[in-house]
Amino acid sequence: MRIDVVSIFPEYLAALDLSLIGKARRQGLLDIRIHDLREATTDRHRTVDDTPYGGGAGMVMKPEPWAQALGAVLAAAPDPRPTLIVPSPAGAVFTQAMAHDLAELDHLVFACGRYEGIDERAIDWAREQFDVRAVSLGDYVLNGGEVAVLAMVEAVGRLIPGVVGNPESLVEESHSDGLLEYPVYTKPSSWRDRDVPEVLLSGDHARIAQWRRLEQFRRTAERRPDLLALLDPATLTSAERTA
Ligand code: SAM
Repeated sequence: MRIDVVSIFPEYLAALDLSLIGKARRQGLLDIRIHDLREATTDRHRTVDDTPYGGGAGMVMKPEPWAQALGAVLAAAPDPRPTLIVPSPAGAVFTQAMAHDLAELDHLVFACGRYEGIDERAIDWAREQFDVRAVSLGDYVLNGGEVAVLAMVEAVGRLIPGVVGNPESLVEESHSDGLLEYPVYTKPSSWRDRDVPEVLLSGDHARIAQWRRLEQFRRTAERRPDLLALLDPATLTSAERTA
């Protein structure tokens, strides 16, 4: 997968050199290119922002540097109409389902906003060249799009075959089946007067699977009842319904 990220803080994205995503880059599974928006400016001060029309607090990112930067990404793009993700608290909320959809694509471009955001005309212009999606990390406001991009690239990147060593570890995770994951434990079996649930030491795989499934329901009911409401009750066992 090819990923381009445009930001005024390219060094913010250095974390994409670490851990599994960094390894995937070195293995050629992910081709991630970071671009400095200021390289697309032409004035001595490398200006990317100006005051908002209509007044109000803060600054707005100017459209022309964005058109130049995204145009350069497009000129070097392997496909004609890449997907452009514009991180924004006013976007559709990023979910695991969205991560799966994006992982199917060959090329993602991310435009990291700062200040009060990007001049809307730059987004309109981009719609002619890109499949544009405004995406929010959640219902809160960050200072810039970079943190959102780190989260999205990690969530999408780990779904690319080969990035996570054991693909089975992706199967039973939180949100893979609409539920939260069950609690997990490791050695020692007894720690500070707390014991690992007996069933996990039993070696009885059917019982373990049943226990884990019910724990998923209990945890989801307690922490995210909104997720349970999305499940089709007809597909649940009576134990799951009452967990
Ligand atoms: N004035 C904007 C608003 O109220 O919608 C918020 C601008 S925010 C201070 C600056 C940038 O941070 C945004 O352009 C966006 O790139 C990023 N950002 C902030 N919160 C975000 C969120 N929840 N999800 C994704 N990106 C976010």
